[in-house]
Amino acid sequence: MTIRVLSVASEAVPLVKTGGLADVAGALPSAVAPHGVAMTTLLPGYPMVLEWLARAEGAAKKTKPLHTWDSLLGEPAQLLEAKMGDHRLLVVDCPALFAREGGPYSDTSSRDWADNWHRFAALGRAAADIAGGAVQGLGFDVVHAHDWQGAMALAYMRFAPHAGHAIPSVMTIHNMAFQGHFGADIFPRLQLPPEAWSMNGVEYHGGVGFLKAGLEAASVITTVSPTYAAEIRDPAFGMGLEGLIVSRGDRVRGLINGIDTAEWNPATDPALASNFSPKQLARRTANKRALEREFGLQRGANDRDGGPLFIVVSRLTWQKGMDVLCECIDHLVGLGGRLALLGSGDSAIVSELHRAAARHPGRVAIRIGYDEALSHRCQAGADAILVPSRFEPCGLTQLYALAYGCVPVVARTGGLADSVIDANLAAVNAGVATGVQFADVHYAGLASAISRTIALYHNKATWRALQKNGMAADFSWASCGGAYADLYRELVPEKA
Ligand code: ADP
Repeated sequence: MTIRVLSVASEAVPLVKTGGLADVAGALPSAVAPHGVAMTTLLPGYPMVLEWLARAEGAAKKTKPLHTWDSLLGEPAQLLEAKMGDHRLLVVDCPALFAREGGPYSDTSSRDWADNWHRFAALGRAAADIAGGAVQGLGFDVVHAHDWQGAMALAYMRFAPHAGHAIPSVMTIHNMAFQGHFGADIFPRLQLPPEAWSMNGVEYHGGVGFLKAGLEAASVITTVSPTYAAEIRDPAFGMGLEGLIVSRGDRVRGLINGIDTAEWNPATDPALASNFSPKQLARRTANKRALEREFGLQRGANDRDGGPLFIVVSRLTWQKGMDVLCECIDHLVGLGGRLALLGSGDSAIVSELHRAAARHPGRVAIRIGYDEALSHRCQAGADAILVPSRFEPCGLTQLYALAYGCVPVVARTGGLADSVIDANLAAVNAGVATGVQFADVHYAGLASAISRTIALYHNKATWRALQKNGMAADFSWASCGGAYADLYRELVPEKA
């Protein structure tokens, strides 16, 4: 029997994206559909969402609102219905909260909207109303909330009247670092009953915690890799919520993300100088030469190949271990490696990278900015990618690298630990290794991983095997859609 799921998110491709959450929320409906799950996505009516609806089918104008609120947490709103691909999309059109210039969470100067609590509480309130049957003919078996912006749906379902109390729920954490903390003064304006102000309700250290409230209320908590699901039980990763996570026991699961294999396919990718498949790895060389030219990298006089070409494609932040990368650049160049880096972020890290590029002209080159097509060319042309993250809920760049024959060199954390098989002796002998893992994100850990990678690179047969094994690994949404469907089915056994 078909399971009907309401997915509550603050972003979803192709309508609105600031990070990996949008990829997951956008891909899930199609990923679970073959497994008997009909997923409806609920999004806020930001201008870009309403414009997308209007462009897609003139739907915003034509659609009769499914429901209207005279007061959705104090503001008039209506619920619009449209299609996102083959799947139902619901949009909370509440101009007072969402019709404004800027991003989903911040203004044009990147300052968070002061009323973000109100905006995403309203999204949650709308979701709970829908789950509670506010819209005739629209019923759901499971509500699935994403991150702190979707989390209040589950708090309203739990505490508010007529809000789908009996419906099981899933709360997915895409990054524990963002939790939606607000002052206690907002509590009366959330229009929750007094009992919601409790340690197992929305109260968190004297204020209101949106993600915390969702984690308390959810039937099951998921995060985006099994290792991250284990790590967030520890204070170093739980960011204050580790106790709650531990208390939820086996209700906390890890389901690794997939990648869009239409967008990231080296055999058809239009951004590449030369398309290739696992059987045509020699064709990668044209991409390597093109990348060298694009970054102005040189080959040494006695070095026919130029040595291994490493890339980094990343936010330049502490989370991503970019300070440690800076410390290891001289070591990498000293061993005959070269580095092409694409990223943006902290100014101190950017300055350090500029200094490294100046020290090693022709061996280290950087591009500061966000460039989607260049990120594809980097993955197709480089020999290896460095991902020295201190924590990484799932990580996408190592998954793209695997698909593109670019060997991932990763810290053993979160989704990096779950997606890359270290080239230790046993894995190499068994023919299953796909990359290099290292344990500690500091100079000695990353430097020795770079040394090990360069040694592997000079063993041509082993290197080829790493590339081929990586390209054969399946991290498509097709495979993880089944895992989400199994979870929903576990929550609704009568539909199993
Ligand atoms: P996070 O979401 O924590 O930044 P992920 O690895 O999960 O890290 O996802 C990052 C995504 O952003 C990947 O798709 C990566 O290719 C892309 N990306 C990061 N920095 C850049 C950049 N400067 N230019 C192009 N793409 C980038």
